[in-house]
Amino acid sequence: MNLKLTDEELAFRDEMRTFFTTQVPAEVRERTLAGTLTSEDFVTAQQALNAAGLAVPNWPTEWGGRDWTPVQHHIWLDEMQLASVPDPLAFNANMVGPVIAAFGSQEQKEKFLPPTANLDIWWCQGFSEPEAGSDLASLKTSAVRDGDDYIVNGQKTWTTLAQHADWIFCLVRTDPNAPKRQAGISFLLIDMKTPGVTVRPIKLIDGGYEVNEVWFEDVRVPAENLVGEENAGWGYAKFLLGNERTGVTRVGSSKVRLAQAKELAAQTKIGEGILLEDPLFAARLAELENELVALELTQLRVVAGSADGKPNPASSLLKLRGSELQQAATEILMDVAGPDSLPFEAADIASPAWAQHATPTFLNYRKVSIYSGSSEVQRTIIASSILGL
Ligand SMILES: Cc1cc2nc3c(=O)[nH]c(=O)nc-3n(C[C@H](O)[C@H](O)[C@H](O)COP(=O)(O)OP(=O)(O)OC[C@H]3O[C@@H](n4cnc5c(N)ncnc54)[C@H](O)[C@@H]3O)c2cc1C
Repeated sequence: MNLKLTDEELAFRDEMRTFFTTQVPAEVRERTLAGTLTSEDFVTAQQALNAAGLAVPNWPTEWGGRDWTPVQHHIWLDEMQLASVPDPLAFNANMVGPVIAAFGSQEQKEKFLPPTANLDIWWCQGFSEPEAGSDLASLKTSAVRDGDDYIVNGQKTWTTLAQHADWIFCLVRTDPNAPKRQAGISFLLIDMKTPGVTVRPIKLIDGGYEVNEVWFEDVRVPAENLVGEENAGWGYAKFLLGNERTGVTRVGSSKVRLAQAKELAAQTKIGEGILLEDPLFAARLAELENELVALELTQLRVVAGSADGKPNPASSLLKLRGSELQQAATEILMDVAGPDSLPFEAADIASPAWAQHATPTFLNYRKVSIYSGSSEVQRTIIASSILGL
């Protein structure tokens, strides 16, 4: 297989690189790199991309998608991450948007897709519950039909950025007596302002608030907000999760982190020399760089081989390895910072801001091997779907 980029692909890469480095405000990109992005930054970046037709290239073309090859999609994502442009909000661009485009009614498409692409509506994902994570089909949040509405009761958890969300897409149980648990689940869109919806923040180990509990108490939801057919939600969720796992490798972001570690290690004195020249450190960095190149080539092989647009089981392999390398990249940056990483958001202490962010970021990145299907779950998929065990 030839993984060399063609002249057209190189021209496309240059076009993307120029756009991302000149059309998205520099301060937004700096805050992405520093890990201090605000919700307004997400909106600014996504609206800049959307105005140029670059926010939702994976959608059908009639709703703003692009008729690109898988390699072009890969280049778009890689260049965006290399330029430290925040990815379009995944809940909008990779999750609910494609589901509505594929399974929603014409009214739902017209009502939701344009503002979803432009991040005028901020979505969050209401799948997981306290007793339903990896085993998602055991979810209990109920939706009972009452005239033209559903009455929703239950609790979702780990709902990322629900504090900013206008709408939530939920998996709810509409048939508790279905012969299979999966057969009684529906996909429902709920306005977060509806009476009975409560968002409670969960404080994470890094001190930040990015996940929440979302409670539903007799929440009245118009039945027109059901996507597709009642009790067919599990199929739509599988479609969504397939999309969610593609592109989660984040090779571009890990490359940026390693480059940052290299640059900072060159300025860090140890004993008589500098950290970058320490043989153990240099070997560790070189190994990580090689692992990242190997992952990137594997990713290119996978995208080049999935031209039919169907989720490829190899995306589990990319998710697994991508998570490990993202964690390794945050760990090496924390080690470069050393004791300087111990103060946290301490303006009156001389340790630099990047160093103060290094440990919280390392801790925060424990999440990447849990969400979108944990590493253990990915290994099981790899064993059964790729290795045939
Ligand atoms: C930071 C963060 C953000 C998240 N954001 C969202 C969100 O926005 N919306 C949403 O719906 N969910 C979200 N999640 C939830 C996430 O999808 C779940 O945490 C994940 O599916 C794991 O479920 P769980 O936490 O219940 O753990 P469990 O499923 O209880 O797993 C516990 C442990 O057991 C292992 N395990 C479980 N089943 C198996 C198995 N069959 N074989 C081998 N090992 C297994 C797991 O790997 C894990 O190590 C988020 C999670 C995190 C950490």
